[in-house]
Amino acid sequence: MSNLEFEARRDNAVARAVSFSSTFVAERAENAEVWDVEGNRYIDFCGGIGCQNVGHRNPQVLAAIKDQLDHLTHTCFQVTPYKSYIELAERLNALLPGDFAKKSLFFSAGGEAVENAIKIARYYTRRPALITFTNGYHGRSYMGMALSARMVPFKEGFGPFPGEIYRLPFPDDFHNVTIEDTKHAFETLFRSDCPPDQIAAIFFEPVQGEGGYNIATLQFLEYLRALCDEHGIVLVADEIQTGMGRTGKMFAMEHYGINPDLTCIGKSIGGGLPISGIVGRADIIDSVPAGGLGGTFGGNPIACAAALAVLNVIEEENMLQRGLEMGNQIDIRLRKMAQRNVFDCIGDVRALGCMNAIEIVEDRTSRVPNGDLTAKIVEKALKNGLVLLTAGPSRNIIRLLVPLSASLELVDEGLDILEKSIEEALV
Ligand code: PMP
Repeated sequence: MSNLEFEARRDNAVARAVSFSSTFVAERAENAEVWDVEGNRYIDFCGGIGCQNVGHRNPQVLAAIKDQLDHLTHTCFQVTPYKSYIELAERLNALLPGDFAKKSLFFSAGGEAVENAIKIARYYTRRPALITFTNGYHGRSYMGMALSARMVPFKEGFGPFPGEIYRLPFPDDFHNVTIEDTKHAFETLFRSDCPPDQIAAIFFEPVQGEGGYNIATLQFLEYLRALCDEHGIVLVADEIQTGMGRTGKMFAMEHYGINPDLTCIGKSIGGGLPISGIVGRADIIDSVPAGGLGGTFGGNPIACAAALAVLNVIEEENMLQRGLEMGNQIDIRLRKMAQRNVFDCIGDVRALGCMNAIEIVEDRTSRVPNGDLTAKIVEKALKNGLVLLTAGPSRNIIRLLVPLSASLELVDEGLDILEKSIEEALV
C-alpha cells in the first residue's frame, strides 16, 4: 500500500488534531534512518522528537526489551514492585550530580513528570505559585499547557487554564532579552503580584526545546539558584529534551555545574519506549507520604529495562563524547553554511553539545523570523530524503536531534541534503 493510500485511511480514521509533519508513512527504522511503506529511505534528524539518542532499535535496548518480555510485562509497581524500576532509580540517583541524597520515581509521558514535579513542589513548600518562562514548553496536560508559552496550536480554545502561574522573560541574546530584563520582571512580580514566599517552584529548560533552542546562560541559572536558595523555592530543571546525553553530558545542567532540586526526564531515556521520571533531592521527594504519587503504568517494567539498556549504551559506547564531537561537527558545518552570502536567511547558529539549531530569518540585519521559508526548507528536505523538525514561536528554527549513534558520514550526508534544501527553498 502506498503513502497516499495510507494517508487517505489516516484522514478518515484518525483525529485531525493529531497532526503530522511528514508526507510519508513509516514502515521501519534503524539507527538514524527511516524507511517508508514504499521503500524510500530517509535520514532521520528528528529521532521521534528527541527520543532516539541511542538510535532506532538499538541492539542492546532491543535485547533488554526481549529479555524483560520473557519475565513480566506489567504488575503495577505499587502492587508488586520489580527489579528494573528499582535498578533504574539506583542508576539515575548515582548519575545525577549533587552532594545530597537522591530519590527517583517514574511515569510514562514527559508531561506526567512535569505534573508530578508540581505536586511534589507544592506539597513540600505548601505554597501555590509557579514560575515559568517565555518560550518555555512543558507538555500538553492542563498544568503543562499553563506552564507552556505557545497559544496556537497548543492552548488556543482549551482554556481556562490553572491559575497561580507567572511567566517571566527567558534571557536570550539573539532576541534581545537580557538577564537584567529577567531580574527586573522578578522584582516587579514580587512587588506587584506574588511575594517569593508564595512560590512553590521555578520551572525552566536548560535549552528551550519547542521554544527554539534558546540556551540558558550561566548567569541566568546562577541567579535562579540563588533566588531559590534565598526564598525556599524548588528549582525544577525540565531535561525531558536536553537529557540523556543530548548535549554531550548526561544532564545538560552539568554544563553549568548548578544542581536543580528536581530534574524531569523523559524522551530518550526509554530508547523508544514511553517512560519519564523525576530524579532529585530525597528530602523534597520524600516529603510526599506513601500513596501520594504514582499511576498504573508509571515505570512499566519493559520501559525500565529499555532505560537501563540506554544508560549502558551511553556509558559503554562513549555516547557523551560522541555527542560532543558530533555536535561540534554539525555546528562547524552550519556556521560554514551561514557564512555563504546567499544564505543570509540563516540568522543564527546555536548549539549546546549535540542540540543544534539554525534560526531562519528574512535577513541577518532585520532578524525578522521567516516561518514560511523554514516550512519550505523542511518540505524540500523531506523530498530529498531528510526528516527535519522546526521549533520556536514563529516555527522558524530548524532543530537537529540526530541520534548520537549515527555515523559521522551519515550526519554529513544529512547536512549536504539540508544545504541543498535551503538552496532549493530560496529559488
Ligand atoms: N518538557 C519538554 C522540555 C519537552 O520537550 C516535552 C516534549 N516535547 C515535554 C515536556 C512533554 O513531554 P511528552 O510529550 O512526553 O508529554
